[in-house]
Amino acid sequence: MEKKNLDWANIGFGYHKTDQRFVSNYKAGAWDNGTLTSDDMVTISECACVLQYAQTVFEGMKAYTTEDGRIVTFRPDLNAQRMEDSCKRLQMPVYPKDKFVEAITQVVQANEAYVPPFGSGATLYIRPFMFGSNAVIGVKPADEYQFRVFTTPVGPYFKGGVKPITIRVSDYDRAAPHGTGHIKAGLNYAMSLYAIVDAHNQGYDENMYLDAATRTKVEETGGANFLFVTKDNKVVTPKSDSILPSITRRSLMYVAKEYLGLQTEEREVDVEELKDFAECGLCGTAAVISPVGKIVNHNQEILLPSGMNEMGPITKKLYDTLTGIQMGQIEAPKGWIHVIE
Ligand SMILES: *Cc1c(COP(=O)(O)O)cnc(C)c1O
Repeated sequence: MEKKNLDWANIGFGYHKTDQRFVSNYKAGAWDNGTLTSDDMVTISECACVLQYAQTVFEGMKAYTTEDGRIVTFRPDLNAQRMEDSCKRLQMPVYPKDKFVEAITQVVQANEAYVPPFGSGATLYIRPFMFGSNAVIGVKPADEYQFRVFTTPVGPYFKGGVKPITIRVSDYDRAAPHGTGHIKAGLNYAMSLYAIVDAHNQGYDENMYLDAATRTKVEETGGANFLFVTKDNKVVTPKSDSILPSITRRSLMYVAKEYLGLQTEEREVDVEELKDFAECGLCGTAAVISPVGKIVNHNQEILLPSGMNEMGPITKKLYDTLTGIQMGQIEAPKGWIHVIE
């Protein structure tokens, strides 16, 4: 199979249309079989529930080429489960987990020419999503839905090397207690746009959100969970019901404990503790871990000891081990690597 002639190192993170996507429709209480299509356009009623009331959820994952030339995805069963949880919270029908993984497999196979080669640092980003598609004007869930999976090649996250970022404690909240912070819903992103544009305008890379009830506990950023390393090398991640359960974070905590023999803690993290940590990173599918060099909490500037030039040593070990597992260079725990035949 001939790869597309793309400049993998420089494609960046934008939408780049690929050949095929998977579409399945839900009508009269049942999903159809679904099919691949070359049609990248969606035609729906102007009054579709997704357009009026934001009834939509999504997932994000990657396909990439391992060192031995296999095309794989990472733990797609967890994306399937998380999408099920998201759908239930927004009164949407569940797309069966085995069919979800099958749809991912089909779309990646159909766009094999866009899966970047090993060593390029680029990946094929996969976006599964679902939305309420029929007209709804009185507030209620839609009766009809579309499940769709498209792919787009994306360039290396750390182009030109790793650069620790600067973040600020936000005065806006991301998620309410007992709200929707724990599901991957578009609505959580719509309401974060103002805060992220404002952060960028003020010279920060990201927002650190606190718990909305007390504004004393660290939650996450707009699209990535936190990992902290204490001065005695414990790996700590915040615990809260309004954090999105990142698959990358859960995998890194496992790697910390089982591969690196480090102590791990999932617990509440007080904002007052930030000054005591040795390292801080953001974790998510896009970067795996993005190191944080500085945290600004209003008048207080916290410089992480790992500095503004490189990843902290534990963060680096975590990053190297997980990416080594993903790329087939380190043996993976059972079920983590899904090979696309
Ligand atoms: C998707 C997402 C993450 C990262 O999750 P991964 O499964 O690791 O990609 C973290 N926080 C939020 C709010 C997200 O939407």
